[in-house]
Amino acid sequence: MDSNAVLQFKGGETAGLQRLKHYFFETKSISNYKETRNGMIGADYSSKFSAWLALGCLSPREIFFELKKYETQYEANESTYWLVFELLWRDYFRFSMKKHQAKFFQLAGIQNKGIGVNKHNSKTLQSLIEGKTGVDFVDANMRELKLTGFMSNRGRQNVASYFCNDLKLDWRYGAAYFEQQLIDYDVCSNWGNWAYLAGVGNDPRGNRYFNIEKQAQDYDKNKAYRNLWLNTSK
Ligand SMILES: Cc1cc2nc3c(=O)[nH]c(=O)nc-3n(C[C@H](O)[C@H](O)[C@H](O)COP(=O)(O)OP(=O)(O)OC[C@H]3O[C@@H](n4cnc5c(N)ncnc54)[C@H](O)[C@@H]3O)c2cc1C
Repeated sequence: MDSNAVLQFKGGETAGLQRLKHYFFETKSISNYKETRNGMIGADYSSKFSAWLALGCLSPREIFFELKKYETQYEANESTYWLVFELLWRDYFRFSMKKHQAKFFQLAGIQNKGIGVNKHNSKTLQSLIEGKTGVDFVDANMRELKLTGFMSNRGRQNVASYFCNDLKLDWRYGAAYFEQQLIDYDVCSNWGNWAYLAGVGNDPRGNRYFNIEKQAQDYDKNKAYRNLWLNTSK
């Protein structure tokens, strides 16, 4: 895997359990999860459990019970609570998928809401995939995804918003590319999150627009993330 990757992911239950031990008991990174979870560089800003969860090497119940052990042994705080909260999102998308089935994959989504999209443009799609749109925050994230199969949650939200709200493309092409690329690809979380960003999911607040420039300023103020992925010849 690319040497800039957040983690050299290794498959299997043993590696998954080792990651859990590392994130909880060895580094106690879990105690700061709420403050660091919007990070974009490095192994420990978030748990990275998703890849093992997606393949069944770790189960959410296993994570939950280890977390309870951690809380008894060390501390229970907003961060330990927040990890459970995020795992609930995962559950939510699974139940939603069971309920809505094929609607999960339709342009109008589970809301059956008509949305206007531009005609499919393979050139635009390709420039996005290659990380060559000219919007540096989007491009850096797309290059990370292409080279490593991973992208932070902050990156995924921005890229999906850019795809749906700025380019106004059919969100299912974006979801399909993520499906092809993500090391933690999960049918329910991927399609559910994409639909949510496209404004056809179960969000009462309507579509989710991210101001990319502001997001880049807020989450990559010194451009460390953009420099990591854009100043490379790969
Ligand atoms: C457009 C888009 C596509 C996505 N596609 C996937 C996907 O294919 N597979 C996947 O596992 N996650 C997906 N996510 C959710 C989230 O980005 C990843 O779960 C997270 O970035 C994985 O890193 P982590 O394990 O370090 O997360 P952490 O922040 O450490 O979170 C812990 C766990 O909570 C769950 N979780 C966190 N955020 C979400 C969320 N928004 N929705 C559902 N579960 C969540 C995951 O199981 C994650 O492993 C997507 C999000 C977006 C916006």
